[in-house]
Amino acid sequence: MRPQAPVRGRVASTVATVAAVTRLTPRMTRVRLVDDSLAGLAAVPGQTLKIYVPDLVGELPVSRDYTVRDYALDDDSARPSLDMDFVLHGEGPAADWARRVRPGETLEFVGPSGRYRPDPQADWHLFAGDETALPAIQAYVAMLPANACALVYVEVADIGEEQPIPGGVRPAVYWLHRDGRAPGTTTLLDDALHAVALPPGQGRIWLAGHTPTVRRIRAHLLNERAVDRRTLYVKGFWDRQPR
Ligand SMILES: Cc1cc2nc3c(=O)[nH]c(=O)nc-3n(C[C@H](O)[C@H](O)[C@H](O)COP(=O)(O)OP(=O)(O)OC[C@H]3O[C@@H](n4cnc5c(N)ncnc54)[C@H](O)[C@@H]3O)c2cc1C
Repeated sequence: MRPQAPVRGRVASTVATVAAVTRLTPRMTRVRLVDDSLAGLAAVPGQTLKIYVPDLVGELPVSRDYTVRDYALDDDSARPSLDMDFVLHGEGPAADWARRVRPGETLEFVGPSGRYRPDPQADWHLFAGDETALPAIQAYVAMLPANACALVYVEVADIGEEQPIPGGVRPAVYWLHRDGRAPGTTTLLDDALHAVALPPGQGRIWLAGHTPTVRRIRAHLLNERAVDRRTLYVKGFWDRQPR
């Protein structure tokens, strides 16, 4: 029942030029690639790219996963463009790269990959995650038909990190603020999803972000709420690493 589409990008890597870097919020920056090399990608917003960025210590580049926030073949420059939104979470090769990168530099990546699409037949949709999941949530909500019933829960640092959820549909959006607490240390999403009254009918739940948090919520939904596992998509996006 999980929506599938036969989409997988080419395996060879793509190198594209950074055209713009835009700070969306204090902790989120958008990198726009514009390049003829993007023309054949057939990327769909919400898919994943494996990007290669300089390591902070070693000499070889390291790979990190990021979401295609937008992809257009016909933007103003008449060249294909692709947007990715980076959480500036602290020290990490990808966050550092996004903080430092300037227009004119290049980025190498592999992909896109990922087959998830919101099911237009579902009676309702629930999207939940932290700020790393926000680009995918924005992309998926924008795909919903205007009459869709959608609930959105996003954990962010504070009110300054809230962003518009675009699209024709008007979801019920709940922003959960950490207000000074570190990412991956709260039960804000757990508490919200324990309390949510799931609408009647056959719904779809998409959940991503801090890996232990989404695993806990997955267990709750399956074991205590008897959610049908075929209607649930859960992906861990990151975890805290010991220093
Ligand atoms: C399919 C997929 C799609 C993703 N899409 C996006 C996206 O669109 N935008 C986005 O910002 N992220 C996204 N992520 C998450 C991103 O890949 C991770 O946050 C990644 O670890 C960041 O790499 P880094 O090099 O900056 O830090 P790393 O080298 O991986 O980690 C360095 C340190 O930072 C910590 N850390 C990593 N991420 C975070 C965080 N978000 N908050 C707090 N501490 C953190 C780690 O625990 C570690 O201690 C996605 C992940 C997946 C799997």
